[in-house]
Amino acid sequence: MQSGKLRFSSVLTPDGWREDMIVGLDQQGFITEVAPAAEGPGPERIAGIAVPAMPNVHSHAHQRFMLGLAERSGPGADSFWTWREAMYGFALRLSPDDLEAVAAQLYVEMLKAGFSAVGEFQYLHHQPDGAPYADPAEMSLRCLAAADQAGIAITMLPTLYAFGGFGGQPPAPAQRRFINAADQFLTIFDRLSIQVAGNPLRRLGISPHSLRAVTPDLLRAVLAAVPAEAPVHIHVAEQVKEVEDCLSSCGLRPIALLLREFALSGRWTAIHATHMTPAETMALARTGAIAGLCPTTEANLGDGIFPATDFLGAGGRFAIGSDSQISVSPAEDLRMLEYSQRLRDRTRNTLAGGPSRSTGRSLYDAALAGGARALNQPVGAIAPGYRCDIAVLDEDHPLLAGRARDQALDTWIFSGGNQLVKHVYVAGRPLVTDRRHTSEDHIARNFRAALRRLAT
Ligand SMILES: [Zn+2]
Repeated sequence: MQSGKLRFSSVLTPDGWREDMIVGLDQQGFITEVAPAAEGPGPERIAGIAVPAMPNVHSHAHQRFMLGLAERSGPGADSFWTWREAMYGFALRLSPDDLEAVAAQLYVEMLKAGFSAVGEFQYLHHQPDGAPYADPAEMSLRCLAAADQAGIAITMLPTLYAFGGFGGQPPAPAQRRFINAADQFLTIFDRLSIQVAGNPLRRLGISPHSLRAVTPDLLRAVLAAVPAEAPVHIHVAEQVKEVEDCLSSCGLRPIALLLREFALSGRWTAIHATHMTPAETMALARTGAIAGLCPTTEANLGDGIFPATDFLGAGGRFAIGSDSQISVSPAEDLRMLEYSQRLRDRTRNTLAGGPSRSTGRSLYDAALAGGARALNQPVGAIAPGYRCDIAVLDEDHPLLAGRARDQALDTWIFSGGNQLVKHVYVAGRPLVTDRRHTSEDHIARNFRAALRRLAT
């Protein structure tokens, strides 16, 4: 962490854009002041456009390993379900060392894209044969170690996964690394609680995998045993077949079942929530739960289109996640979210939130607020009391010539993407400088070695 002062030529604050500002930090990397730079000597001005770095609320780190290996057609029709079989095959092979190497590389890539915090929805718990590791939290601890290597903040979300389908069906053999009963899961949670306590970059929540993988009774038992502030993330209504299976199991659609069984609130993040009726959309928005959207993954997997215009129109809150890691870019996920609505409705600037507003700015502000809440991290604004997690766009890049303030955000999100991110700070520490991460060579070497091991 780093106390002191940073000086930026342009800063997005909760009160709007400000030019030539000093951001003061305490020893924990929290912001103590944001004030105009004074005349005379002071810290060197960092040329660029400083914005709050983005929380990434939904990551399965191990899936980073299979990028580019699932884009070839199979013998029959391809779908989410055939992709899932392929993913299970890869997931069965990763050792703890492999996972740490893959996750560290991924987290470096996240930082370089402008993310500063990740929600790791971690369901690979056991050894490849399904037996627990000597430390039952081994794989989640490796994700924490990877986050330390990269310097990214992390909200660890160990996954509760007990069943193979709605109504408590037995798991399939390929799911054997994921499966825990409530007491085994709580042992993992307690191990992680010790590791998270006192670390200003770490938070802990839970991720009941889905209503396929947990029953309401099991989830209630676990919720009763974890702290009331622990975030709860759950996959829900991602696929049409999931909706159909839920209907035939209990007569309700997944969102309706979730709403009936639990008092949803801002503590909850509904990952995907793609397939909702208009009434479910309104009802979910009213709870204050965050919709955890992963638009590039949802496009890659052929999930469907989230009803963003209706959900946001009803006051719903959302955040973004890189999920399968098919794209690790806040800009691309926000762009895909907006484009999905444009393609469906044949309109433009669909999520701008009102006349004469920047679409990129509206999307960015909303995803910051929703992401900070979903991860229970003190981020999302460049203002006193928030952790100093900042991404700086390269004002000298040709794409940003003549583009200031909201225009620069729109150019990043709709055109430039990751190449415009020049520096990234987490808790005031410069982890990415001039597009290079402080440990990227060493972490990439370990990652390549892991891929070579996995190829044999
Ligand atoms: Zn997911």
